[in-house]
Amino acid sequence: MMDLEWMRSARCRDLDPELFFPLSEVDPATETAIEHCVQCPVMIACDTAATWRGERWGVWGGKFRGSDRSAARRREYRERVERDPGYLARLAKRQAVYRRRADSRSSVDSSTASR
Ligand code: SF4
Repeated sequence: MMDLEWMRSARCRDLDPELFFPLSEVDPATETAIEHCVQCPVMIACDTAATWRGERWGVWGGKFRGSDRSAARRREYRERVERDPGYLARLAKRQAVYRRRADSRSSVDSSTASR
């Protein structure tokens, strides 16, 4: 299992997760998210983890993932977001889930260590 401890130091921890799931590579949110990433102390770990998980959309580790998609795939994505307003919110929640897992794992580790 991959070590998620680094997520505790993520710069995006207290930021709106939706910022990291822009609608496209040219969405202004993409640039803003990348600006946060390049100042993040765990950018390399984040990039590695996103690659390991096969993340296919969003800004992870200072990179916009999804630029390999064809124009047709992007159009399909936009249409999906329009059709299903909750889709983007669900994507955004994924980062929060990963962070919660890191937090709970860390508390289990520390309680085990004190025994
Ligand atoms: S590098 Fe990863 S952990 Fe750091 S701000 Fe960017 S998305 Fe968040």
